[in-house]
Amino acid sequence: MRIPTFPDVLRANNTLRRYLAPTPLRSALGVFIKHENVQPTGAFKVRGGLNLLAGLKAQGIVGYSTGNHAQSLAYAAAIFDVPCVIVMPVNPNPTKANAVRSLGAELVEAGANFDEARQHAVDLAKERGLRLVSAADEPDIIAGVATAYLELFQQQPDIDTVIVPAGSGSGAAAACLVAAAVAPTCEIIAVQSAQSPAAHDSWRAEEIVDRPNKTVAEGLATGSGFELPQHILRRHLTDFVLVDDAAIRHAQWVMLRDAQTLAESAGAAPLAAYLAEPDRFRDKKVALVCTGANASEAEIRDTVYRG
Ligand SMILES: *Cc1c(COP(=O)(O)O)cnc(C)c1O
Repeated sequence: MRIPTFPDVLRANNTLRRYLAPTPLRSALGVFIKHENVQPTGAFKVRGGLNLLAGLKAQGIVGYSTGNHAQSLAYAAAIFDVPCVIVMPVNPNPTKANAVRSLGAELVEAGANFDEARQHAVDLAKERGLRLVSAADEPDIIAGVATAYLELFQQQPDIDTVIVPAGSGSGAAAACLVAAAVAPTCEIIAVQSAQSPAAHDSWRAEEIVDRPNKTVAEGLATGSGFELPQHILRRHLTDFVLVDDAAIRHAQWVMLRDAQTLAESAGAAPLAAYLAEPDRFRDKKVALVCTGANASEAEIRDTVYRG
């Protein structure tokens, strides 16, 4: 597999500026928050989908996702006029499922979880001759996602630490690529849920491992590590931490109450990691990436009720 490079990121940035405005970096809660929650589709993944489809010649694509990767592909497929099939685990987040349908993609519900949906997508790609799009083993997706970090370091060049939520690890890998080129002393810390630790454990073990996948944070819900992001993370990532789902839900509430920001659970995980270790981040200039806003209605009600 090709490893994306910093020049790939610069090219992606040229491509994406035709389709996306830079997202704000706001100061709140004593940190900087990179607001990918205000992207069209409500999550950073749109950067990856657009960059992939901008350079792709295919009859059609098939992706698998718990939601935001799906919306990204559907959004980009509509812009580039490419047929798009999305496989989601059965009973998907209705907000995300409806968004995919309304973007004009064909939605197939199959499998009890992310990993079963992935197998179904592999089969569909063979059957129908579609280009299977991996959630993360795609250099053009990582280069596209990395433009968020290019913006971040342009907006605030002297950040000490960036905390990035990880599911497949593409976002954290993207942050590593950019930091290595433009801010080599900046620490990149990835965070996943303790209820779905596959990316974290793969990084620690220095090999791809499978783990139980029980988190409520859809964006962090993967049952195994992904080769390409793990390869990049092994070289450049400073640290990888785990937080409990309960701490993520609490952070989601704090984002809403104190930063006027609706984050989905995954988008609040960096704040949970930050709040978990106050001593570690004292006197540091920290940026948290609020990766997405696509909480279901039930999740929003539950977060507010518990808060
Ligand atoms: C996908 C996603 C993540 C995790 O990103 P990866 O690149 O898969 O590690 C985090 N937050 C949100 C909102 C997501 O959609």
